Amino acid sequence: MIVPSDTQIFSLPQPYLDDLERQYKDNPYHCWGHAVEVATLVHTWVKNEECLKNTFTHEQTQIMILAALSHDLGHPGTNNQYQEQIQSELFTKYGKDSTLEKYSIDLGKQTLERHNILDHLHIRNKGDAIAFFDQMILHTDMMYHRSHITQLEQHIECSKQDSTLKINPVQFACILLHAADINSCFQRPFDVFMSRSNACNQEFYAQGDGQRDRHLPISKGMDRGYDVTKLHSKEELKESEAICNERQTQSEIDFVEKVAQPFFVQLQQVWPYATTLCAAIEMNLADLKAM
Ligand SMILES: [Zn+2]
Repeated sequence: MIVPSDTQIFSLPQPYLDDLERQYKDNPYHCWGHAVEVATLVHTWVKNEECLKNTFTHEQTQIMILAALSHDLGHPGTNNQYQEQIQSELFTKYGKDSTLEKYSIDLGKQTLERHNILDHLHIRNKGDAIAFFDQMILHTDMMYHRSHITQLEQHIECSKQDSTLKINPVQFACILLHAADINSCFQRPFDVFMSRSNACNQEFYAQGDGQRDRHLPISKGMDRGYDVTKLHSKEELKESEAICNERQTQSEIDFVEKVAQPFFVQLQQVWPYATTLCAAIEMNLADLKAM
């Protein structure tokens, strides 16, 4: 089961969960375990954080967990850019923007319908619930990362004039799901952070290898820097891996410092619990820099 029974908001039928699990591929990072982790985080936050309990209705909370569980359904282990490069079937069907997120939305909605989940949860306004579900999954696309930060900045600015101002729940739900989705940056202890990071890089390098094999431009951060089939000795491999590891550490520092941290720094001004996440990010950064 996805969450400890003592903190359960609602229960989901096991056949529905099994169906979702079957639709996740056995990727190193974008797998069922990642979806469960994201859903568990969202669930823990909305269940335990007083200010979140007052922000979302019970129905919205339920839809947030469903979106978290479904947000990477069918993920092929390669990104949107790659779908475009190889003109994949998914690219042809869903277009250039948010290709994989639109695919996950489609699979997610079909799965909800197959198991009558909205009826099971007694959701009254199904149209609103589905629109909320769509929005949240769509906004897990990293393309929206900067706009999440801008929305937080705008809210902080406006609430200086009006301290009673409440953040738009739909926007905030998208921001929280995104925060849970990039959770590897605040995972502690450090070896847990490293295991998530390594799983992610394993998937990235597999895509980079695919791009190299097809003579396509290799996406940023996905080039291991060598072609394993062209190395002649164990020593050569060891040397190439060492160079790759060094570059990987620097790109992790860059991701945490330039991408994740600015988002969580803004988030903590709207949601005080994020201060804990910022502290964990600081510790990971210090450990990374000490490597
Ligand atoms: Zn994800």
